[in-house]
Amino acid sequence: MDIESIRASIARDGVQHCIDGEFVPGARGETFQTLNPATNEPICEVAAGHAEDIDRAARAARRAFAPGSPWRRMKAADRAKLLHKVADLIDRHVEELAVLESLDTGQTIRQTRHVQIPRAADNFRFFADLAVRAQDGHTYPTDGFLNYTLRQPVGVAGLITPWNTPFMLETWKLAPALAAGCTAVLKPAEWSPITASKLAAIFQEADVPPGVFNVVHGFGEEAGKPLTEHPEVNVIALVGETLTGSLVMRQGADTLKRFHLELGGKSPIVVFEDADLERALDAAVFGVMSLNGQRCTASSRLIIQESIHDEFVARVAERVRAIRVGDPLDPETEVGPLIHPEHIARVLEYVQIGQNEGARLETGGTRAPGFERGNYFTPTFFTGALSSMRVAQEEVFGPFLIAVPFKTDAEALEIANGVRYGLASYLWTSHLTRAHTFAHGLEAGMVWVNSQNVRHLPTPFGGVKASGMGRDGGEYSFEFYMEHKNVAVALSNHHIPEMGKRR
Ligand code: NAD
Repeated sequence: MDIESIRASIARDGVQHCIDGEFVPGARGETFQTLNPATNEPICEVAAGHAEDIDRAARAARRAFAPGSPWRRMKAADRAKLLHKVADLIDRHVEELAVLESLDTGQTIRQTRHVQIPRAADNFRFFADLAVRAQDGHTYPTDGFLNYTLRQPVGVAGLITPWNTPFMLETWKLAPALAAGCTAVLKPAEWSPITASKLAAIFQEADVPPGVFNVVHGFGEEAGKPLTEHPEVNVIALVGETLTGSLVMRQGADTLKRFHLELGGKSPIVVFEDADLERALDAAVFGVMSLNGQRCTASSRLIIQESIHDEFVARVAERVRAIRVGDPLDPETEVGPLIHPEHIARVLEYVQIGQNEGARLETGGTRAPGFERGNYFTPTFFTGALSSMRVAQEEVFGPFLIAVPFKTDAEALEIANGVRYGLASYLWTSHLTRAHTFAHGLEAGMVWVNSQNVRHLPTPFGGVKASGMGRDGGEYSFEFYMEHKNVAVALSNHHIPEMGKRR
């Protein structure tokens, strides 16, 4: 399928909910438009979900989870085969998915085609391979007793996801939930709904039983909130802003939801004078400018040792200035348009804030010249920032980097930890002891030493402080989607007090 036919077919078909294995319009018949960030023209109409749609989807997911249902009867090995089939179908549809993802989000085709969509298939393969031992527990033999534990799927998982890398993140949540044996209702972000529905179509094609995976589109308040409040939903996995995390916890309190929250970040990249500066330079620029800067783990604060500061920041500025901004569907483009007119307005506001605060704008900070339409923004780099400034404290979520100098290790650590967030952190040094000591001191869920953000799926992924709670990855994901049940079996006639027995 070429780009124009993909575009025409989504404009014609639009995007519907997928509930109980069927594509359906919203109960109220309402729709909203999803915009192409490259032009801000509508791509298609999308079903707008409300509490009624969530209710139907949650009930369908509960029925699919009922004892004796095809999903519950299915052997883990067969569940694994189905998830592998989903992965193979993602690979088969990679071109269509990549084009739709780029159209809907403005993410570059080099990212969607070669990284994001293939990673979604990898997510299914990885968790499919774990499905056969998903229920494994432990044994705790003791005198006269055998205790053993089972892991059992928790039930219906509510998944709420953001717009930055929608397809990859949705599969990153869904694959472990299904491998664990749960069923799911996904509420994708309203600014990037298209590929979630394509995923539902892939599930149909793979013959996954109806109701196992449901998608309800819509806005946070209208469709997300009822999902967090629904009594048939056992757990909520949210990826989104920190404020949304707080709201969601409050909303889910009455029905005692279990939460996994992956929230915002303002991650530091600390570069010491003894680092491999060529590689550190590549990582510093890529870490914050890739994915249009809309990356939760973006290295958005460059904390740089004073002795190498001037030369290093000059080289960063030169590289940032040379980044190719352009049409996301052009394979040469390095940074595409930002997701939405509201989002570019917010990022531009941060440019103003940085200037008002007295940071020095080295490059960028404007709408990109040469584009009459769309949310094109020039990659932006500020130097001379103080850690206390808003541009050094708040998540901008765009191709927006600030540099803060430091003199000593202690000062670097204080700056690195001096924000409310604690998601990722990056550390560049050739000094072995410094690397480990510093890594131990960083308040973050993840530390990469002399490395860009390279994920290894079994390792824990998540944040501390305002960046969230809970971990994804390998067994860590299963901990969230499973209950532990202990079974204690007496192996001898142990003492049982004889209450009420006449002597
Ligand atoms: P957002 O919080 O605005 O929206 C995320 C999702 O929550 C959307 O689907 C939205 O509709 C829904 N939502 C909003 N209000 C809700 C409510 N009251 N109840 C239920 N659902 C509600 O976030 P966004 O703007 O889509 O995404 C950007 C944010 O996501 C950034 O802060 C970024 O750091 C974060 N993020 C974090 C990670 C991570 O792994 N930590 C990964 C990607 C993105």
